Amino acid sequence: MQTMQQRVVRPAQRVASVRMAAPVRRTAVRVAATATVEKSSSSGAKPGAGRIYNFSAGPAILPLDVLEEAQRDLVNYKGTGMSIMEMSHRGKEYEAVIKKAEDDLRKLLNIPSNYKVLFLQGGASTQFSMIPMNLTAEGDVTDYVVTGAWSKKALEEGQKYTKANVAAKGDNKSIPPVSSWKLSPDSKYVHYCDNETIGGVEFKSVPDVGGRVLISDMSSNFISKPVDVSKYGIIYAGAQKNVGPSGVTIAIVRDDLIGKARPSTPVMLDYKIHAENDSMYNTPPCWAIYVCGLVFAKLLKEGGLEAVQKNNEAKAKIIYDAIADSNGFYANPVDPAARSLMNVPFTIPSSADLEKAFIKEAEKLGMVQLKGHRSVGGMRASIYNAMPLEGVQALAKFMREFAAKHAAK
Ligand code: PMP
Repeated sequence: MQTMQQRVVRPAQRVASVRMAAPVRRTAVRVAATATVEKSSSSGAKPGAGRIYNFSAGPAILPLDVLEEAQRDLVNYKGTGMSIMEMSHRGKEYEAVIKKAEDDLRKLLNIPSNYKVLFLQGGASTQFSMIPMNLTAEGDVTDYVVTGAWSKKALEEGQKYTKANVAAKGDNKSIPPVSSWKLSPDSKYVHYCDNETIGGVEFKSVPDVGGRVLISDMSSNFISKPVDVSKYGIIYAGAQKNVGPSGVTIAIVRDDLIGKARPSTPVMLDYKIHAENDSMYNTPPCWAIYVCGLVFAKLLKEGGLEAVQKNNEAKAKIIYDAIADSNGFYANPVDPAARSLMNVPFTIPSSADLEKAFIKEAEKLGMVQLKGHRSVGGMRASIYNAMPLEGVQALAKFMREFAAKHAAK
């Protein structure tokens, strides 16, 4: 098994920083043998099992106890003599796994009985086209609210199939007030993204769309807080941020929206097919669903989503406070009313070189994947459910020390 010391931090992709004229390529950085969290133990940070604090936006950190449970089951699942990865999805063991995962998710989110829970493939990106294919006919009107890069991508797919109206467009830093949205009288649905993973812009309440079918991409804040599912037509999320491994996408779909797919819809993109077959029309992503199930069970045991939200609020405050207390050394562009609890982008406005140094030094202290998305540069701390409080405290401590050292005197 790969130890932390052997782990190689992924070379950065080409970065088109907003401040840099030319893209820069960073060479692969090998985390030195000493670059463990133990080294930063002055902050009390010790995630255990030789692990480091991973601030990746996704695939992202998973709870250590879930990983350990999966590890225990990996070779021999509960005495069956085989791994979940090796067993038929039609067998009684696996059927129990997927059923429990669904039951636990239903409990966590209090999902009403007139909603189907579907475990799908193709990522959240596939939902961008699956939604219009299933909910509209040629020539139908839809409404899209664009608050960042992901809702824009959803819109672009929606435009291929429908007369997609941009009901509101944000500035990537805030959410246009719902009262200003220009919703169409006859739209088949209103689509928005509850948490923009790149911009760090998050809705704090369910928008009132006047009885229209509301659809939300919750990929990066799914099960981070309680949600009133009954206000939605569809909620969907790729698993690889807050829930489990990549490979499974969860869609919670209201019954009356199922069974209306266009005749040309591929069978694998028809909600009805997946609903009728309990997400087992074809081979599901068995392992990914199994790990999601472990996460659901853990969150239920730990007090459900109210407790999760409280933790997330406390963690986010620690990072936002470190930014606010820095006298402008760090900047977060987002309107305080829309700041994400999950993804905190920040920059060092005075110097792109200092940003590079920040990321490098943090890596040496065992805090990785802090580089901002390649489209915006800077830094981004993704602090999903599984990021422990200690990880956030360690980052904030480092931020404060780094600012004290480098702020212009
Ligand atoms: N929506 C949001 C909000 C996302 O953050 C992402 C992935 N970063 C996607 C959609 C696309 O997800 P996937 O990679 O699973 O297709």
